[in-house]
Amino acid sequence: MLTDSGGFQVFSLANLRSIKEEGVAFQSHMDGARIFMSPESSMQIQSKLASTIAMAFDECPSSVADKRYIKNSCDRTVRWLYRCRDEMDRLNSLEETINPHQLLFGINQGGVYADLRVEHMKQIRELDLPGYAIGGLAVGEDADTMYRVIEAVEPHMPKDKPRYLMGVGTPVNILEAVERGVDFFDCVMPSRNARHGNLFTWAGMMNLNNNKYLLDERPIDENCDCDVCKRYSRAYIRHLFKARELLGMRLCVLHNLHFYNELMAQIRLHIEKGDFTEWKNKMVPILGKRAPF
Ligand SMILES: [Zn+2]
Repeated sequence: MLTDSGGFQVFSLANLRSIKEEGVAFQSHMDGARIFMSPESSMQIQSKLASTIAMAFDECPSSVADKRYIKNSCDRTVRWLYRCRDEMDRLNSLEETINPHQLLFGINQGGVYADLRVEHMKQIRELDLPGYAIGGLAVGEDADTMYRVIEAVEPHMPKDKPRYLMGVGTPVNILEAVERGVDFFDCVMPSRNARHGNLFTWAGMMNLNNNKYLLDERPIDENCDCDVCKRYSRAYIRHLFKARELLGMRLCVLHNLHFYNELMAQIRLHIEKGDFTEWKNKMVPILGKRAPF
């Protein structure tokens, strides 16, 4: 289990935030309550949640913010990382800590500026943490910019530690990032898209709300062995959506999560077989388009 620090959420969801060296004050988007969060309080919350991996508390500036702002922000994120590490060490040494083996991952920032990304990565790798993430991407910049940033920063990430690309992405984004040296991912996409009837299949993407599925008795994906595809038809799940029956969303989420797990299993398999690039080049044009059915 992995928990995020709240850094991204503060900067993407909260109103009225003010950033100081000590931490960030913001207003909750849920009930308007004033909240103060610091590197220390983020580590304390994650320690109580007892996740396997805790993420560093960082500032996640807009990837297209001006360069001087991002440079100052990166410097503060480095200082905050030392505070996160010290607090995590303290918490892990306490007798009452639920998971005293909790791991801290650092997060690389620097917007779309390759030189800032590299400089920041060199600074945070000095802490010799168990893993490193690339953060602050997939926040509105185009995919080619994201790939360019990964290519710039990846050579400076430790070779023997897991690399995690935060908040990414589509099946194609994942395949492209793996080719560039990324190991793992998190994203709302499989579940959020599913709730709108947008499904991923081995033949491409489909939207179940489309009229052409009205009487379609086939499963979502004939090449999928998830429990949904074994049992239910496109027509039935589409009917559930039209009737505003929540089971429709649930079945689509189950299928999409199964698809993503299977995608990662296939990636591992092809890396081991040594034909990852060949397989990836075959899959990208298929998975990035609408399914032909
Ligand atoms: Zn399925």
